[in-house]
Amino acid sequence: MLVVLERTATSEQVEAVCAEVRKMGLTPHALPGAQRTVVGITGNLGMVNSGRLETMPGVIEIIHVTQPFKLVSREFRREDTVIPVGPPGSKVEIGGKKVCVLAGPCAVESREQAFAIAERVKAAGAEIFRGGAFKPRTSPYSFQGLGEEGLKILALVREKFGLLVVTEAIDSESLNLVEEYADIIQIGARNMQNFSLLKQAGKAEKPVLLKRGMSATLQELLMAAEYIVSEGNPNVILCERGVRTFADHTRNTLDLSAIPFVERTSHLPIIADPSHGTGRREKVLPMSRAAVAAGADGLLIEVHHKPDEALSDGPESIYPEQFNILMKEISGIAKVIGREV
Ligand code: PEP
Ligand code: MN
Repeated sequence: MLVVLERTATSEQVEAVCAEVRKMGLTPHALPGAQRTVVGITGNLGMVNSGRLETMPGVIEIIHVTQPFKLVSREFRREDTVIPVGPPGSKVEIGGKKVCVLAGPCAVESREQAFAIAERVKAAGAEIFRGGAFKPRTSPYSFQGLGEEGLKILALVREKFGLLVVTEAIDSESLNLVEEYADIIQIGARNMQNFSLLKQAGKAEKPVLLKRGMSATLQELLMAAEYIVSEGNPNVILCERGVRTFADHTRNTLDLSAIPFVERTSHLPIIADPSHGTGRREKVLPMSRAAVAAGADGLLIEVHHKPDEALSDGPESIYPEQFNILMKEISGIAKVIGREV
């Protein structure tokens, strides 16, 4: 349930509503906005009896949220959430007018590899460098990532190239390390419903990039985001990375309709990952164009200077020259829909 207070409601009136909600044994989440202040209520199992709340000073409306997700819903917050990334003073954000590009190798393999790719993606206009230090691999015999050594390389990339960095946490221990080193904590498709990890990410101070599980519905994705936000971290970036279907011409089926759906249902930003979404280098450019046209707030792109030698996801990694073309083409598309890259 949402309690809507008028724009001119005083902080005492908002606090009185919150106190009343607490008295009911529930948790209030106050969200002051430009047009109205909303107090979201969580902790209830069934419908909340609005009781005294309706007639309290400043209250104009009670909305019963029809969706199972509350804090991430558009009903709770009408304005788009724009997520600041990086240390204070950084101008990078996700969810605003600008389409943010996050690019780099699937995995950090060495300092030389990371630097070679970082230099190219930076020159082409990427703002955030991606690269896994902890890799969730299907086979236990595949490269598992460099661990903390990889995080240290990412920290050097940030320093040397002025790029922010995003990298995946696969468990509680790696999440603590990733939070320390990275600017964004990635939760991968395989962990989208690892609820204890989501709760831990909800207590982190850094934004979280939450990838859609490979067979998750959008409601399940938004419920996973709700876990993070309800723990106190409002900065969640959703990512459509393809789902598993009967199709075998691609690795996954990139579900671009997720983008307008999320835009209508949630205030959180959503980016697209056409690399994992297709698994094929030649499909990354056309699907990147399509994702930007569909309204994606950003793109997550795997780039490798020597994809044939990549220790992970070489077949879907594009060459730096292809990344240059991608950046140029999506800039043109972004302009058409009133955005920029
Ligand atoms: C990745 O981004 O490298 C990754 C492992 O992605 P996903 O979790 O979507 O498979
Ligand atoms: Mn990958």
